Order: sequence, then structure tokens, then C-alpha cells
Amino acid sequence: MGNLKARLLARIDREGPMNIAAYMSACLFDPTDGFYPTRDPLGSEGDFITAPEISQMFGELVGIFALQSWIDMGRPETVQLVELGPGRGVMMSDMMRAAHMDADFIKAINITMIEASPALEAVQAKNLAACPAPVTWATSLNDVEAGPSIIVGNEFLDCLPIRQFIRHDGAWHERMVMRDPDVEDGLIYARSATPEAGIDLLAFEGARDGDLAEYNPGLTQLCAQLHDRFAVHDGRALLIDYGPVSSEIGDTVQAISRHQKVDPLAEPGEADLTARVDFGALSRAAREQGLDHYGPVTQAAFLDALGIELRAAKLAQQSERHKPIIARQMHRLMDEHAMGSLFKVIALQSRGLPKPVGVAT
Ligand code: SAH
Repeated sequence: MGNLKARLLARIDREGPMNIAAYMSACLFDPTDGFYPTRDPLGSEGDFITAPEISQMFGELVGIFALQSWIDMGRPETVQLVELGPGRGVMMSDMMRAAHMDADFIKAINITMIEASPALEAVQAKNLAACPAPVTWATSLNDVEAGPSIIVGNEFLDCLPIRQFIRHDGAWHERMVMRDPDVEDGLIYARSATPEAGIDLLAFEGARDGDLAEYNPGLTQLCAQLHDRFAVHDGRALLIDYGPVSSEIGDTVQAISRHQKVDPLAEPGEADLTARVDFGALSRAAREQGLDHYGPVTQAAFLDALGIELRAAKLAQQSERHKPIIARQMHRLMDEHAMGSLFKVIALQSRGLPKPVGVAT
């Protein structure tokens, strides 16, 4: 049995069942045994692969989006370029290649990487060693210097810890993790005995007994932070993630280890735990905070609008050897049955900015 599992069992024995958010936080970010702090999980040899890791085109086009955002803000002398959950720092490094199209933009950029894992921070520092703009690290958006800001995040929202609720006798009861009474050192799900009050699950009106609803408190918190920043200075956030356009019933928590789906309760800390992002809930949270929001559009629509065809053609010209590689990358990013339509792109911004390129329909 892993270290973290032993400690979680002891904690449950001491304090009682834990909710899914507490379980997810421990699995992902426990400082000594959590999934992210103890490894670099990205890439083909790791546990999972993401769009920036598939192709340099992804980060380059996000870089063009950032450049256009800076122009939309009136080319401020300094702009805070912030990345949420930057993984290996590949997207930022590709963004910088596109940013080079305008020397004044490069001069204006101040980069902050918001990263919770010291292991990944070290990888980012290495990959950004030649970055043309200053880079600092923080663990919260609240610690980013004041001023106009462009904030980007790919596959960040899906690792924010969610809570789950099960409909029972006409009320919502929180789903918990407890010790399995029948299996030695096993974990199982359980429903809390008392119904939950005070959680906004209105989007799931009409749910029936046995249905499961998810609630992501991090989305509301992020929109509140964006509101605070964007109320003072221009700002735009671009968020790309996996999930439905509107709230849907069902358990979407998924555990991935070495590119395979595994049981989320089997080996805490050994697998990546994510939940689909409810873009309906994110849009509602943005509206409630008075942010302008555009999208969600599909990843394919976004990349297409930013000119992925042109970029791919240019890269394919470099050599015969490149052609099939670029074609494969295009397919993985754009295919309707894969990332192209499952991933969505949303932009949240301060009032009065022009419509964001690629996201406004
Ligand atoms: N954006 C990267 C990595 C995605 S994996 C890519 O597309 O390849 C998720 C990343 O978010 C990791 O870097 C993880 O450590 C980080 N992360 C997750 N939750 C976080 C939080 N609450 N605060 C800061 N970083 C977080």
C-alpha cells in the first residue's frame, strides 16, 4: 500500500469520511506523496499528453492570441502575461516564438507562472531558460503584479478539486470517500447521511433520485479573482479545457496513470485525477462576477480561426520528413472525434475590450 493511502485511511479513521474535493486535493497536491509534486507526468513517456505537448503550433497560436490581446488593450507599456498550471512550460516557450512578431510586445511582457508543483516549476525554469521576457513563479493569481494582464491556461481547470452530490429522497447528499468495511485497507464511496444545504445546484433542476451532480468551487473563486484584477486594469483570460458546454448529470472524475484509465480510489497519489469542466457553470460564474465572456467554442474552431492551416503548411514546407508529422499533429488537435470538439475555449475579460479573436462567434 502506498504512503498516501495509509495516511488517508488514518485520517478517515480519525476524522470520518472525506469529501471528493479533499480527496482530490490530497491525491494531486499532497506535498510529499501527491501526484504533481512528486513527478513530471507529461509527455508520451509520462502519464498523459496535452495539446502543447502534441504540437508547437498550439502554443504559437495561443501566442498570437496573446499578441492580439495586447493590441486590443492599446499596447500597454507593461503587460502581465500569466499562465495557470503551465505543466512543462512548453506552451509559454512556443508562445514566445509567436510574440517575437512584435518587438514592443516582447519588451512589455512580464511572465508569471502559477504552479503548485515544485517538480514542474523546475522543469518550466529549464524550458524557459532562454525566454526573452522576465519569468517569475507564484502559487496564486492574487500574487501577480498589478496592471493590464493576459492570462492563459490549458488543462488547468480540470484539476481543480470538485465536490459531488447524489440525489436521494428529493435532496442532494454529498458523495464521500470512506474505509471499505469489507476489504482490508480499501476505500469506497459513500453518501453522507444529511442532505446538503446552501450549495447552488440549480442547473440540475429536474434531477432524479440516484443522479450525480458535480460542483467546482474553484470556478467561482477564479472568476472572483479575475473580477478583482479586471476591475482595475484591462484584462483577458483564455481558458482551454475538456468538458461540456452546459451542465450535465454524471460522474466525470477520471484517474489516468501511464495513459490508462484506473480506479480513482485504488492508488491515491499515483494517478492524475481530473473532472470535466462544466463550461455552463463557468459562464454563469463569469456573468455573476460581471465579466464579459465569449465562447465556449471548440478547440478546432479556435485553432482554425487563428490560422492553424497556414502555420501547418509553413512547417510542412521545411522538409519532406516533416510533412507526415505535421499532418498527424493537425489531426490530433483538430479531429472532431478527438480533441478538436471535446476541448472548448472560453475567453473572460474586462468590460469594454474588443471581442477576442478566435473565440467570439
Ligand atoms: N498546461 C499544461 C499542463 C496541464 S497539467 C499543458 O497543457 O501541458 C495541470 C497543471 O496545472 C500542472 O502544471 C499542475 O501542477 C498545475 N496545477 C493544477 N492545479 C493547480 C493549482 N491549484 N495551482 C497551481 N497549479 C496547479
